Amino acid sequence: MPRVFITGITGQDGGYLAEQMLAEGAEVHGLVHAEDGTAAAFRAAHPEVHLHHGDLADATGLRSLVNEIEPDELFNFAGISSVAYSWEHPIVTAELSGVAAAVLFQAALQVQDRTGRRVACVQASSSEIFGNAPSWPQNEGTPVDPVSPYGAAKAYAHHMAGVYRGKGLHVASCILFNHESPRRPTTFVTRKITAAAARIGAEGTGILRLGNLDARRDWGWAPDYVDAMVRAARHSTADDFVIATGQTHTVAEFAEAALRRAGVGDSWRDHVEVDPELFRPIDTATMVGDAAKARRELGWAPTVPFDELVGRMVDHDVELLRASA
Ligand code: NDP
Repeated sequence: MPRVFITGITGQDGGYLAEQMLAEGAEVHGLVHAEDGTAAAFRAAHPEVHLHHGDLADATGLRSLVNEIEPDELFNFAGISSVAYSWEHPIVTAELSGVAAAVLFQAALQVQDRTGRRVACVQASSSEIFGNAPSWPQNEGTPVDPVSPYGAAKAYAHHMAGVYRGKGLHVASCILFNHESPRRPTTFVTRKITAAAARIGAEGTGILRLGNLDARRDWGWAPDYVDAMVRAARHSTADDFVIATGQTHTVAEFAEAALRRAGVGDSWRDHVEVDPELFRPIDTATMVGDAAKARRELGWAPTVPFDELVGRMVDHDVELLRASA
């Protein structure tokens, strides 16, 4: 069974991946940054996972950790995952979501050279590397042309994945479109909507303030995307793969589906207000991914349609409300 190292193990995707790997019987190692409630809950839920305290910004520490663990598979999920945060902290974003990936690839190559065993790496890249793509759907051939500090940092890591592939390291770069689950923090619009919908449904009153209701996104189910990344790690050749559903919905459609699921019915629009303060400084154009290559080469396909995804998130938030009442 493989020895797996996951950065960002306490995040949405990291948690799902750890569970998938434990179910397979893998030896799971994870990087933990903030020793907060999330980390404590993770430790309690998964005592069999080897957690290592560290910081992506500490290149020396990262290198020695990879050398010590000698993983068969390395998944780089950690970093800044919010475009909004990246505008406030562009340099930190570059270090954590860009440079740290190169440090990890370099360390993985050293382990591979020293041990003679393949170290398969997966970089969690992002559709934000495409910026304002002039055409859609976007695929692996779409020009990399980011328009945010987050997109630029991810673009650097994406290019470095290609560079280290050229040096003989198996590095797959999975260009992930938005993927959601009940584990998304409420700082993200989807979970903000489902948490508010659950509250409004329970109380029969309340307002959900949103930015651009017409913004379109390609939203998928997070565990499906984690499954795609595992397939990419184990594929015979390392490559770039767009991971997406190929369907878009607006923020308004997400809000309507969530409020209806919470029982608000046709009056859902009365509970939604547009707040210009919540618009992104620069929003990307229509983002919709073409995952034909992942379907063809990895045998991957999304399994959870949009309404079901929204429903699962709302139901979870309704349950949370009930439990706290
Ligand atoms: P999360 O935001 O849920 O998780 C990010 C993780 O990074 C957390 O575990 C966090 O730990 C860790 N982290 C942050 N800073 C540091 C640091 N300095 N040192 C070590 N670890 C750190 O992300 P997701 O699970 O949603 O996404 C996984 C990856 O996929 C990310 O790289 C994201 O950019 C990318 N992606 C995600 C998409 C999505 O829709 N979810 C879409 C496209 C790409 P802590 O809290 O302890 O700081």
